[in-house]
Amino acid sequence: MSHILIVEDEEQLARFTELELKHEGYEVSKAGDGRTALEMALSGDYSLILLDIMLPGINGLEVLRRLKAEKDTPVILLTARDAVMDKVSGLDAGAVDYITKPFAIEELLARIRVALKLYGHTAKVDAEQDGRDEEGVYRYKGLVLNEKKHDVKYDGHSIELTNREFTMLKILLKNMDIVLSRDTLLEQVCGYDYLGETNIVDVYVRYLRAKIDDAFGVKIIQTVRGVGYVIKSE
Ligand code: CA
Repeated sequence: MSHILIVEDEEQLARFTELELKHEGYEVSKAGDGRTALEMALSGDYSLILLDIMLPGINGLEVLRRLKAEKDTPVILLTARDAVMDKVSGLDAGAVDYITKPFAIEELLARIRVALKLYGHTAKVDAEQDGRDEEGVYRYKGLVLNEKKHDVKYDGHSIELTNREFTMLKILLKNMDIVLSRDTLLEQVCGYDYLGETNIVDVYVRYLRAKIDDAFGVKIIQTVRGVGYVIKSE
């Protein structure tokens, strides 16, 4: 099933679009600001992203640029009527299409179908490359991280993680047995803005250990002194 991320701060429009897309059989997630959208887009595995340009926090064009530096998820921009420069910049930055607000839902659905047909295979290709199963689920000991549902469980118990904790755990699971340096983790979890502040990584590892290791009496993330962190296969 195609999973679409709607990035839109106007709640009514986001809700309406969500209902229409679900009615068409798509799985749908939503983000209401740029920073959340970017974190979800980078850590999740979406078939397509509908991205509003005028957003609180990081604007849509910046979200698009940072996303495209990392991955190829197809993006359709939602733009205001007269924002010609936004449309041009958006297409230059790698959006596959744009639609002008207010839009007729049938037109949006048609554009989504076209974009998915042309570009929607990328998510599946990624999944084959990095070893998670076809559902986007990572398993380790009692731990189950479901990328699509964005949830983590240990022995069936839900664990509440922030987006960054989730991303950090996912990257470590994805790179099983590979020691990742603090710089690598920082860049993947927080982006380039934070380069140099590698103690942030230690803080997130501490949070993860409190929420998983301490809570369930296990040892998931290993410290490799002077190098970084790793999850070792059993
Ligand atoms: Ca907006």
